[in-house]
Amino acid sequence: MHIWGLDLNSGIDIEVVEVGPRDGLQNVSTVMPTAAKKAWLSAATAAGVREIEVCSFVPPARFPQFADNQPVIAHALSLPPLTVCALVPNARGATDALAAGVHKLCFTLSVSSGHSLANVRKTPGAQLEEFRKIIEIRDASGRRVAVTGGLSTAFGCSIEGTIDGSAVCRMAAKLVEAGADEVSLADTVGYASPSDIRRVVRAVRREIGPALTALHLHDTRGLGLANVLAGLESGIKAFDASLGGLGGCPYAPGASGNICTEDLVFMLESMGLRTGIDLEALLCVRDLVKGSLPGEAFHGALARAGLPKGWSQGGADAAREGGAGIDLGDIR
Ligand code: ZN
Repeated sequence: MHIWGLDLNSGIDIEVVEVGPRDGLQNVSTVMPTAAKKAWLSAATAAGVREIEVCSFVPPARFPQFADNQPVIAHALSLPPLTVCALVPNARGATDALAAGVHKLCFTLSVSSGHSLANVRKTPGAQLEEFRKIIEIRDASGRRVAVTGGLSTAFGCSIEGTIDGSAVCRMAAKLVEAGADEVSLADTVGYASPSDIRRVVRAVRREIGPALTALHLHDTRGLGLANVLAGLESGIKAFDASLGGLGGCPYAPGASGNICTEDLVFMLESMGLRTGIDLEALLCVRDLVKGSLPGEAFHGALARAGLPKGWSQGGADAAREGGAGIDLGDIR
């Protein structure tokens, strides 16, 4: 049975989406060689990662990191059952991504006008128009490619500060009305607290129901995993994360960026929530990727401290029975 992209018979409770090759690499100065990207995708898939945001269709002249999108996507498509996603900032990017054969398009729309203008030089209203064009292009392609509308700065903005939850709800409704298959909420600059997550997720759920599928959280101020827990308790079953917390935050130099995939998988598996990802294999993927990005900062507590003595994957039966203090019946 499939509900919002999650196969409930697959033995997976929570979907961990790797966004390091896009969000991570977008924010590091080293341009990763194509062969190293391919090795990352292969190793991550072998470790059990089911969905990866592999690149961004931004102009290669300005973003040399993504000049090799075509060979990277071709390689990712050779790795079933991997769902291959690409970030598309505009209609042109969507056309190119569809031609390259991706399974899923991710588009981001900022709730904050200031962030939107700084990031894509367009107002949120103009970005919404761009999103409508993307849906038209997808529909005209005749391919059943899912389109996710991601609302960035949904929990605060480094330019505008506090973001009103009702503005997030309005934007979410507009994305669904425009044809988004799924909506995700992003804490782009790491401003959210667990109570913000509960409040905004519940409000957006009231507005668009189960079309809200995922959270994209950053650990800029150390609340990333606490926010995941709040998301779980609010019924979210998919979370973006970046290997080694790769990427940093462009608005807070030196700070960590995305939540760290290894730490997220460790938390979920320790709670008895199955991710399908082999944690020891994932730690090896981290070593592999680290080797090809010398000098870049890698974050994450698990890689520093190692797995606890006696810890085993899938061994958290007590947690599965409800010992984690979360009603798994609600989460599943
Ligand atoms: Zn991000």
